[in-house]
This record gives sequence, C-alpha cells and structure tokens, in this order.
Amino acid sequence: MQMYDYLIVGAGLFGCVFAHEATKKGKKCLVIDKRDHVGGNVYCENVDGINVHKYGAHIFHTNDKYIWDYVNQFAEFNNYVNSPVSISKGKLYNLPFNMNTFYQLWGTKTPEEAKTIIEGQIKEHGRKNPENLEEQALSLIGKDVYETLIKEYTEKQWGKKATELPAFIIKRLPVRYTFNNNYFNDAYQGIPKGGYNKIIDGLLEGIDVKTNVDFFEEKETYTTLAKKIVYTGKIDEFYNYEYGNLEYRSLRFENSRLDTDNFQGNAVVNYNDADVPYTRIIEHKHFEFGKQEHTVITKEYSEQWTPEKEAYYPINNDENQKKYQAYKTLASKESNIIFGGRLAEYKYYDMHQIIASALQKVKKELN
Ligand code: FAD
Repeated sequence: MQMYDYLIVGAGLFGCVFAHEATKKGKKCLVIDKRDHVGGNVYCENVDGINVHKYGAHIFHTNDKYIWDYVNQFAEFNNYVNSPVSISKGKLYNLPFNMNTFYQLWGTKTPEEAKTIIEGQIKEHGRKNPENLEEQALSLIGKDVYETLIKEYTEKQWGKKATELPAFIIKRLPVRYTFNNNYFNDAYQGIPKGGYNKIIDGLLEGIDVKTNVDFFEEKETYTTLAKKIVYTGKIDEFYNYEYGNLEYRSLRFENSRLDTDNFQGNAVVNYNDADVPYTRIIEHKHFEFGKQEHTVITKEYSEQWTPEKEAYYPINNDENQKKYQAYKTLASKESNIIFGGRLAEYKYYDMHQIIASALQKVKKELN
C-alpha cells in the first residue's frame, strides 16, 4: 500500500533536507537509515557532555547567504573559526599557508620577503606540465612548504608516494600574504550550538523515520510503501555492483576520553610526519568552546577502503569515473527514483553544497 509520497533512503543531510522541503509542500515522507541514528556523516555523539563528530570533524562554511539563513532556521551557530595547526619534525606551523607559516619557516616578516622565497623556489623546482602531485605542488608553492607541510601528510592520506599520485588532486594551493589563520575564505562559518544533531532533528520534525533499516534487506516491503524513492546510498550497490565497485578512501577514528581540560589547545592539529601513523588529532570540545574538566580526542587514520568499511572519499580516477558514468546512465532511465547525495553521485560535497543540491532537486521535483 502506497502510504507515502516519498521513501527516502538515507537520513544524511541530503535525505533530511529533501524530506523537510517535500513535507512543507504537503507530501508524506518516510525516511529510513541503516545506521542506528539519523544525520549521516554529520552526526554528533554526546560523550560525557561533549559533542563528538563521530564521522570526522565537520565545520560549516559557506559564501551563500541563502544556505546560511537556511541552516540558521534550525540552530544558532557559534563564531568558531577553523584555524588548524600542523606539527612537522617537532615544530608547529599555522595553516593555511600564510604570513605566520612563512615566518615560522624562514623568519620572513614582510609579504615581499616571503614572495621572493616562494617564487624563487617555484622557478627552481617547478615544472611547466606537472605529471604528478609532487611536481604540481613544487610548481605551486616551492620546495620548503611542500616538504615541510604537504608531502608526508598527503602520502599518509592517500597511502601512496606523492610521485605516484595524479597532479589533479591538488588543483590550487591557497597562499595568503597576510597574517590570517582562518582556513576558509567564506563569509559565513561556525558550528551549530548543541551540535549538528539539532539541525537534523529540526529538519526531521514531524516526519516518519526508521533507523536500523537497510533498504536492500527489506527492499520489497519498503518499495511498496511509497510512490517514489529518493535514494542517497551508494549507486553501485543500488545496481548490485553490475559494473564493479566504485572505490573510496576510508578513515578510522580512535577516540579517547582524557582527564584533562585541554589536551592540545586547538580543535584540529595535523601531524605531517610519516612516522606518526595518524593524520590529525581532533579535540572536539574546542569546536564549541567547551569548559568541561575533561576532554575527548580523536586520532584520525587514513586507510585503504574495502567494501565492509565506511566509504569516505571517492577516488576520482578514470576507471572509477567510467564505472560511475555507466551507473549514472542506468539511473537516468529510472522514472520513480531520484538519486542524490555524496554516495549516489559518487562525489565529494561539503555540507553547504549538499544542502544546495537537495534544495535544487526537491524544487525541480515539486515545482
Ligand atoms: P551521508 O551523510 O553519508 O548520508 C547518507 C546516509 O545514507 C547515511 O546515513 C547512510 O547510513 C545511509 N544509507 C546508505 N545506504 C543505505 C541503505 N542501503 N539503507 C539505508 N540507509 C542507507 N563538509 C563540510 O561542509 N565541512 C566539513 O568540515 C566537512 N568535513 C568532512 C569530514 C569528513 C571526514 C568527511 C567524510 C566529510 C566531510 N564533510 C564536510 C562533508 C559532509 O560530511 C557531507 O557533505 C554530508 O555528510 C553529505 O550528506 P549526504 O546526505 O550526501 O551523505
């Protein structure tokens, strides 16, 4: 019996925004998720009063006033500004690369001094047509920044030598000749007070939701419940891996609760060196300026993906893109299924982009 207009598979941001907007237009939605909670990858787990970003650190940022106002309907945001630091060979450096970083590297105090060094190194080590990530980075930023802050970190992230990675992974390397440690250039930035769950709960208010339901295990039952399906899971899984697996890079998170009120003095500290197995440590309380007497930290390890692991970052090489295009062609022939979100589109999206994409798709569907 079709009790619902839409069955929404996946309670991540895409599914929740779609469900919220469709409900506002008088449609009846059922949202299911195979996890035991809603929110997808933005979900926060409350550990002893601290909101732990369970699937990796999430900082909201956007230049789009409409999207900023949209999320602010559901939660007030604090004025957190992402200013990560990186530890390399025992020394600490500010990110993104800016006048503070250059002072720490070379003792330069003026933009002109720093520019002279960077441009000189690019001239000496850069290539006209970089053929791999190392050559690309050397051509964009020079030797010292690359070797101190990029090379080993990137190799840990991708599990490959920089010379074996394609140049396109690094399209640009933002360099600022000002003393500004704000990682993002966007006009709006912050963390929702009370965590991302507040936004998700607001989006899903009044909507039927079932967790611990894997669509593929109860496909017959759930498909008959709704006129249309909004599918936000993996597109290759939807088509039973007909053209093979789409590959991802995975992450492993190791959490510890510590009896100290301040472990590292910053929410995000990167570890550049190859002999440190994790890429960064997140201290979650700093996202919300927490005053607790204890803290929770997460060591983030970059890992090879296997089908049993969480799929985090799509690996956008030619082979995967070819497979994805084949799945996309199948998807384009479906009349009652809408595909959306990072897994169904095999694409990395930031949160503001996924919200914009869901709003666009729901508008196209219901206007
Ligand atoms: P998801 O959140 O993955 O939701 C998909 C949901 O579908 C999941 O809950 C899953 O369980 C469910 N599902 C899948 N298959 C099935 C099935 N068969 N049956 C039922 N349910 C199913 N963005 C930012 O803007 N700022 C950041 O700082 C930031 N940091 C990030 C850090 C990391 C490590 C990662 C990986 C991403 C980060 N992002 C960040 C991006 C952000 O996480 C995404 O934009 C957003 O979560 C995508 O939402 P989604 O709904 O497309 O996918």
